[in-house]
Amino acid sequence: MSDATIKLLCDLVAIDSVNPSLVPGAKGESEVAHAMAAHMRAAGLDVEIDDVVEGRPNVVGVIEGRAPGPTLMFCGHLDTVGVIGMTEPFNPVERDGRLYGRGTQDMKGGVAAMIAAAESIAQSGGLKAGRLIVAGVIDEEYESLGAEALVSKWKSDAAVITEPTDLVVGIGHKGYQWVEIETKGVAAHGSLPQQGRDAIFRMGRVISHLEALSQKLQSRPPHPILGTASLHASLIDGGRELSTYPDHCSLRMERRTIVGETENTALTEVEEILHTLREQDPEFEGTAKMLFVQPPYETPSGHVLPQTIEDAMHRVGRKTNRSGLTFWTDAAILGKAGIPTVVFGPGGAGLHGLNEYVIVDHVLGCRDALADLALSFCV
Ligand SMILES: [Zn+2]
Repeated sequence: MSDATIKLLCDLVAIDSVNPSLVPGAKGESEVAHAMAAHMRAAGLDVEIDDVVEGRPNVVGVIEGRAPGPTLMFCGHLDTVGVIGMTEPFNPVERDGRLYGRGTQDMKGGVAAMIAAAESIAQSGGLKAGRLIVAGVIDEEYESLGAEALVSKWKSDAAVITEPTDLVVGIGHKGYQWVEIETKGVAAHGSLPQQGRDAIFRMGRVISHLEALSQKLQSRPPHPILGTASLHASLIDGGRELSTYPDHCSLRMERRTIVGETENTALTEVEEILHTLREQDPEFEGTAKMLFVQPPYETPSGHVLPQTIEDAMHRVGRKTNRSGLTFWTDAAILGKAGIPTVVFGPGGAGLHGLNEYVIVDHVLGCRDALADLALSFCV
C-alpha cells in the first residue's frame, strides 16, 4: 500500500463518519472533514470549513487559476451508513486489489481520488485559468443537507460527483419519493365481526392496487437512459394484538421517478387509488401524505463535460462509456442549482452491505482522469 492516494483513502476509512441522522449518536462528519481540510491545506489549497448543522461541517478547498476562466467542482459526501454486523468497519484491509471497509466504495474512494487529483495539480504548477473547487459534504445518506448548503454558497460551470460508477460517465439518475398511507378500521373483540372493521384488510386493497401500478410503470416505454419508474412497499405497521380487529394500518412506500415526472407524482397516484377504493366501498377510510422527495437528474444533453471526461480517460490510458445510473446522488441537487453535473467514480461492490470494497486500481484511474479533466476544463 505504498501509493499516497491509497494511504489517504485508508486514513479516511479509518475515521468513523457514520451519519448521525441514520444512526442516533453516531460520530458524524467532523473528524473526517478536518482530516480532508488538513490534507488539502498541506497541498496548498485555500480551505474553508463550515458547519452545516452544529458539529457537522462541509469542507471546501480551492485552487485559483492564473487567469479568469471556467470553474469546475469535484464533490463527494463524507458520511457513511451504519456498521452493524461488520467486524472491523474502520480497519481498511487490502486483498486481491480490493480495499475493504465501511465507506471504501461509498464513497471515500471517490473522495480520496478527488483530493489526490487536486493535490497533484497544486503541486505541479497549478491551473492555467479558472478555478477548481473540491468539496466534501455531509449528510448525503439522509437528507443531503451538505449539498444544499454547498450550492447556496458556491457556484461552478460544471461538477463531478465522485460516487462509485465503475469509471462509467454517469449522465443521469432516477429520483425518489416517499409516501405514507394510512387506513382506518374499528377496533373490536375478535369474536365480534359485526362490530370490527379490519384496517389491515383495507390496506391489503391498497397494496393490490400498488402492485398493479408498479407493473404498469414498468411496462411503459423506458426513458432512454433512466429506464422505467418503479415502486415498492417498504415498511408496514398495523394492529394491536391477535384477538382484536386492527383499527389502524400504515404503509410507507418508495416510488422511484424518472425525468419528466412531477414532484407530486407518487402522491397523486396513491390518491387516485384511495379515491377508487372509496367509490367501491363508502366505509373505506384511507389518507396519504408525501414524506420526502428528491428529484431525478439528467446532464443537459450536448454539454461538454461527459465528452471531456471521456477524453481525459482516454489520455490516461483507460476505457469508459456513458450511461444512466439507477441510484440517486447529490448530482440532482447541484443540477437543480444550475450546475451541469456528471457522476464519475471508482468501482467496487457491497455498498451499504457487510463486505463493502473499492477496486484500488479504479481509485487511481479516477484520480488521474480527474486531474486531467481539471487541467483541460479550466483553461
Ligand atoms: Zn454515496
